[in-house]
Amino acid sequence: KEIINVIGAGLAGVEAAYKVANKGHKVRLFEMRPKKTTPAHKTSLFAELVCSNTLGGKEVTTPRGLLKAEMELLNSLIVEAARKTEVPAGGALAVDREKFAEYITEKIENHPNIEVVREEVTEIPKEGITIVASGPLTSDKFSEYLRNYLGEKELHFYDAISPIVYADTIDYSKCFWGSRYGKGGDDYLNCPMTEEEYERFYTALMEAEKVPLKDFEKACYFEGCMPIEEMAERGKQTLLFGPLKPVGLIDPKTGKRPFAVVQLRKENKEGTLLNLVGFQTKLKYPEQKRVFRLIPGLENAEFARFGSIHRNTFIKSPKLLLKTLQLKKNPKVFFAGQITGVEGYPESAATGIIAGINAVKLAEGKELVYPPETTMIGALLKYITTADPKTFQPMNANFGILLPPEKKIRGKRERRKYLAERALEDMKKWLELVY
Ligand code: FAD
Repeated sequence: KEIINVIGAGLAGVEAAYKVANKGHKVRLFEMRPKKTTPAHKTSLFAELVCSNTLGGKEVTTPRGLLKAEMELLNSLIVEAARKTEVPAGGALAVDREKFAEYITEKIENHPNIEVVREEVTEIPKEGITIVASGPLTSDKFSEYLRNYLGEKELHFYDAISPIVYADTIDYSKCFWGSRYGKGGDDYLNCPMTEEEYERFYTALMEAEKVPLKDFEKACYFEGCMPIEEMAERGKQTLLFGPLKPVGLIDPKTGKRPFAVVQLRKENKEGTLLNLVGFQTKLKYPEQKRVFRLIPGLENAEFARFGSIHRNTFIKSPKLLLKTLQLKKNPKVFFAGQITGVEGYPESAATGIIAGINAVKLAEGKELVYPPETTMIGALLKYITTADPKTFQPMNANFGILLPPEKKIRGKRERRKYLAERALEDMKKWLELVY
């Protein structure tokens, strides 16, 4: 049997290794800590949670609640550990981070099919099948190798995420579709602002609370991911020549060029999600909601993803990966975790499970698989492999990436309930077929 290498014992790596090992295959799991660490990890434990200690909502009517329910059907080690080490946190599944990581480390280190190698990997091993799960803080040497191996432009070192809103929560009576100078058809939804509206928005933006950048993240501003509030600091006019510029746009209601315009672009083919173009930001989440709801048309907008800027190593998956998480140019190499362009703890772990399943299938000469698009995991895989490679930025679990319901369902809660039931039903059917 061919050996299966897993690079990185983080959230994705441990799921992948555990899945492979439980299927009776030998795994060599590489982890560079404690010999070499990242700017965020503090221990030598596997699956260390580097920031918050929550894995998101518990209810299946929340995006991460549904994701975790699907992961449980796939026997997720991360969700199992979370349930065993849970601490009270209202509707969220939060954990005692030390106990959580210890539980996982113990399971992995004592698994008879897993050999742990505490070394930094600097290139993809020549022997066997490999799952790359080295995370958002992949070591410099290995990043450099990946850059050469995949192509210089195919590996990002920072994300600069603009907020995304659910399309069905926008007040379209205040906006109009159209592109600058009429080029490109109705690609953009334009939210026009009067001078007073712009003043109000600008003041709120300047006063809003921000998340400070960590030291290791500061270089990012020089890489062209300037946050909107930072641009605003340069003067009241700056945004009017930047993301809020009105040139080339005429509001059909007034027949005039608006004072300022915020443009939204479809984030997925179904058009259920819209992205606020150029609004990458370090504002705190509640502040984003407060300030961006001052934009005409977005007064009641619901956010599927908030904006952010992080140090984040991720590859251009829509160009490079298959839905099976294999590299197109070398199908014996899989990618999993945050490095594929999913965003978040459970999201990263979920892709680890799929990479593990498929590495085993490949080793056994069987057909490779991926869950249907009606499931949260399937929708994430679809997103990262079919999004526009030019504007690709990481994505978290949300209901906008799922295939919309086949029928009209009134009410957000009812719709989510239907989508969650459909997802879990389809995941069960899929599991029966592939296992
Ligand atoms: P990781 O969990 O980081 O695992 C990768 C592993 O690979 C690490 O153990 C690392 O030491 C190892 N490694 C790296 N390079 C090599 C190499 N060359 N050889 C061998 N081993 C190597 N998500 C949330 O949901 N909530 C949060 O609060 C949150 N906060 C974050 C804060 C920061 C600072 C960062 C960077 C990310 C945060 N994320 C958060 C995003 C993401 O969910 C986590 O980073 C998550 O741990 C990603 O899982 P992963 O398995 O892809 O990577």
